[in-house]
Amino acid sequence: MSRKNQPPWTPSPEYAALLPEISGCEFNGWDDAEARRPRQIFWLKKPGDHPFARLLDAVKQRFTQVQAYNDVYAKADRGPHKLPDPAPERRIASADFWTTRVKDFVLNRPGARPAGYPGAGSEAELVGIAAIRPEWVYEGFETTLPNLVIVGNAMDHARLSLVPSSAEDPEGQLEVCDQYNRGARVVNWLAHWIRAQGYEAKPHAGPWVGSLNLLPAAIACGFGELGKHGSLINREFGSSFRLAAVETDMPLQADAPDTFGADDFCAGCQVCANECPPDAISREKRLVRGTVKWAVDFDRCIPYFNETYGCGICIAVCPWSTPGRAPKLAQRFSRRAAERALASSEVGA
Ligand code: SF4
Ligand code: SF4
Repeated sequence: MSRKNQPPWTPSPEYAALLPEISGCEFNGWDDAEARRPRQIFWLKKPGDHPFARLLDAVKQRFTQVQAYNDVYAKADRGPHKLPDPAPERRIASADFWTTRVKDFVLNRPGARPAGYPGAGSEAELVGIAAIRPEWVYEGFETTLPNLVIVGNAMDHARLSLVPSSAEDPEGQLEVCDQYNRGARVVNWLAHWIRAQGYEAKPHAGPWVGSLNLLPAAIACGFGELGKHGSLINREFGSSFRLAAVETDMPLQADAPDTFGADDFCAGCQVCANECPPDAISREKRLVRGTVKWAVDFDRCIPYFNETYGCGICIAVCPWSTPGRAPKLAQRFSRRAAERALASSEVGA
C-alpha cells in the first residue's frame, strides 16, 4: 500500500462535478477562529438537501453496486431493529451500580468471532462513559439525554491491512463493516436493556452518523488521544477499532480522559501522512472551529475514500495499530511525559 515517492492521487472530473460550491474543509470550519458546533458531512442515511447530497448519493450508489457490502449490512445481525418503550416503573439505583452493570453488559456480551481474532468470544473490547457536552451535538440537532456510553470494537489488523479495497477485493473494508455490525449489536441490545430498567436510551451504530460527534466523546471517556490521521489512538489497540454509543438518562459515572504521549509521538511521526495517497493528512495541526488540532483535508480524503470503498490506509499503517505495539509505546511515552513534567517543575522551583 506504500505510496513511496509517487505524486498525490487526484480525483476524476466526474467526481469534481458532484461537489457543491463550499469546500468540505470550509464546511468543517478550517481556519475558523470561532468555536461552533460541528456539522454532519458524511455517512448520512438520508442526505435530503444537504450541500453534499449529490456526492453522498453517489457514494451510496457506489457501495450498493458491490454485493459483498449489501450482504454485510443487509444480512448481518445488528441487534433489535425496534426498541421497546422504557418500562413504566423506573428501577432506582446509584450511578455506581448502573455504571458497573452497563460496563459488564458491554464487555461480557457473548460474540461469535472465531478464536484468534481480537474480540473472540465477546462483542466489544472497550467501554467508557461521558457526560454529553453541547459542543458534540451536530448543528440542527438537540439532545435531552445527559450521558453517553461509548463502545469500542477492535479490528483484526491483518484483515484491515488488506485496504485499499476494490469492488473485486473488498476484504479489508469488510473487516470495518464487521466491526460496525458488532458495535451495532452491542449498542442496540444495551439500549434495549436500559429501556427495560425504565430509562431512555438511544443507540448510535456506525457507519451512519447520528446526532452526536462520537470522536471527542470517546476522547473524553478515556479511549485515547486524537492522532495526526484524524482518528483515535488507544493505548491497547492503537487506531484499529471502531466506535458505537448509547445516549441515556440512566445515572452513570463519567470516566476521565487518558493521555499517554500519542500526541507527542505524532508530532515526530509522518507515517500516515506519507502513506495517504491523496496527501490529505496535515503535517501540522490546524485551527478548526476555534481549536488547534490534527486535521484531515476532507476534499482530498473523500474522493479516494469513495474510490476505495472506505480507504483506512492511515489507521492500518499507524505504528500504534500493529498488534502488541501500542501498550509498549504507551508505557515508553507516558514515562517520558512524566519525566518532562518533573524536569520542568524542578526548573520552576
Ligand atoms: S501514523 Fe504516526 S503520525 Fe500518523 S497518527 Fe499514527 S503515530 Fe500519529
Ligand atoms: S482514509 Fe483519507 S486520510 Fe486516511 S489514508 Fe485514506 S485518503 Fe488518506
